[in-house]
Amino acid sequence: MKIIDQLYINGQFVKPHGTEIQDLINPSTKEIIGKVTLANEQDTRDAIAAAKKAFKTFKNTSVEERAQMLQRLHDAVLARTEELNQAFIEEYGSTAMAAPSFTDISAKNFLLTKETVEEFEFTKQIGTAKVVLEPLGVVGMITPWNANYTYITSKLAAAIAAGCTAVIKPSELSAIQTRLITECLHEANIPAGVINIVTGTGAVVGAEITRHPDIAMISFTGSTQVGKIIARGAVDTMKRVTLELGGKSPNIMLDDADLNHAVPLALMLCFGNNGQTCMAGTRLIVPEHRLEEVKAMAKAALHSFKVGDPREADTAIGPVVTQKQYDNVQRYIRLGIEEGAELVAGGEGHPEGLEHGYFVKPTIFAKVTRNMTIAKEEIFGPVLSILTYKTEEEAVEIANDTIYGLAAYISSTNLKKASQIASQIESGTVMINGVMGDMSAPFGGFKQSGIGREFGVYGLEEYLETKAISGYEEAGSPE
Ligand code: NAD
Repeated sequence: MKIIDQLYINGQFVKPHGTEIQDLINPSTKEIIGKVTLANEQDTRDAIAAAKKAFKTFKNTSVEERAQMLQRLHDAVLARTEELNQAFIEEYGSTAMAAPSFTDISAKNFLLTKETVEEFEFTKQIGTAKVVLEPLGVVGMITPWNANYTYITSKLAAAIAAGCTAVIKPSELSAIQTRLITECLHEANIPAGVINIVTGTGAVVGAEITRHPDIAMISFTGSTQVGKIIARGAVDTMKRVTLELGGKSPNIMLDDADLNHAVPLALMLCFGNNGQTCMAGTRLIVPEHRLEEVKAMAKAALHSFKVGDPREADTAIGPVVTQKQYDNVQRYIRLGIEEGAELVAGGEGHPEGLEHGYFVKPTIFAKVTRNMTIAKEEIFGPVLSILTYKTEEEAVEIANDTIYGLAAYISSTNLKKASQIASQIESGTVMINGVMGDMSAPFGGFKQSGIGREFGVYGLEEYLETKAISGYEEAGSPE
């Protein structure tokens, strides 16, 4: 049993003023594996005050110093890879297959951000004006439970590179990962107050960060619903807001797609990380005349997606994170059936023999129409909806017929055609034939999938304020 009863404020592990204790549950077994004492408003204000004080000196550190810090953060996270993987599997049900990729991204991103900031131009000359990009100030970072520590590290890397200080509110469901990642960050020997971590609920800690006047920016990753609450709250003090929100990502199979590759890929894109990724390709859009073929191949390919104990190396799908999430996914499966979709595989209830955890049957629906709830709402579980099209124009229309615009996928053997379709998709990321995106490329959403971008130069710029100075004289110029 892990007892987590410390926050991280001003470079020290401290006891919270908050007294509420929350259980941490292993979703594979429903066993209580830990208890976390939650922070309250006072703890949040203490963290903000520490970050505000630290900003006064941290904003003046050189790029070289900050690059060295990013290197140390990378080394510290890398040194704890195995423990982080284990926490991810135990606390959240991610599989042994998937967890290492999240840890890898967490460490690598510090190095990529180091390269980005070393080449970044903080000063530009525009006409007679000198344009300077300056760190914004104290950044409030609010993260979701899925890949909690990956979001902590990606936001933190950009903040450190920019010269900002941070108050991080991780998901209260991920306290074990958070404790481990906090120890890594502490070991990197970053100046006191630059990083502060207050685990608590959204209603208490998240709301305090949102309204506090000393927070200059909020970098939020989570649901569209909560993103809207934060954006509304942040406007009173005119905070900058970046929002990485939900998705209902389309996966278009063009007529000429190689189904032997495209069908297993489609299952992976939807069921990966137990169906709990913001980028999940949940709407498979296929040519009408290939539907029967796709259905048969998807059903067959599903056999290679083992559902079960996430610690086992060959498990592809573990449990969903909580009872609430399990109930929610079941509700969507019921709605799919009630609204007339054809159940190709899976369905309601637990997979046989897996009643002891929050395991869901990976479910495939065909004959899904655009107006069905399962085609419109983010489910955040292993549920795939297959829709059909007659023309490519219709495929694009279906793909864009959503309030979201985070990711999109296209399968085709004709790259020119796929690229032409990609240019018509309203989405922050488009992946053709499953080719992974560059980690320094911008990531973020169109429409209600968000505002702003993370990673690389675009991510760094979010943490900077722009100042134009005219009539200036360089310090050190001769009299
Ligand atoms: P959530 O929106 O419920 O919670 C996210 C965070 O916001 C948590 O830390 C939570 O405590 C906090 N929060 C809740 N209410 C708040 C409030 N009123 N004020 C301030 N903070 C508040 O999301 P979740 O269930 O933890 O995560 C799943 C969601 O996150 C999905 O919708 C998924 O698509 C999205 N997500 C998006 C991305 C992306 O990069 N676009 C990545 C991962 C997850």
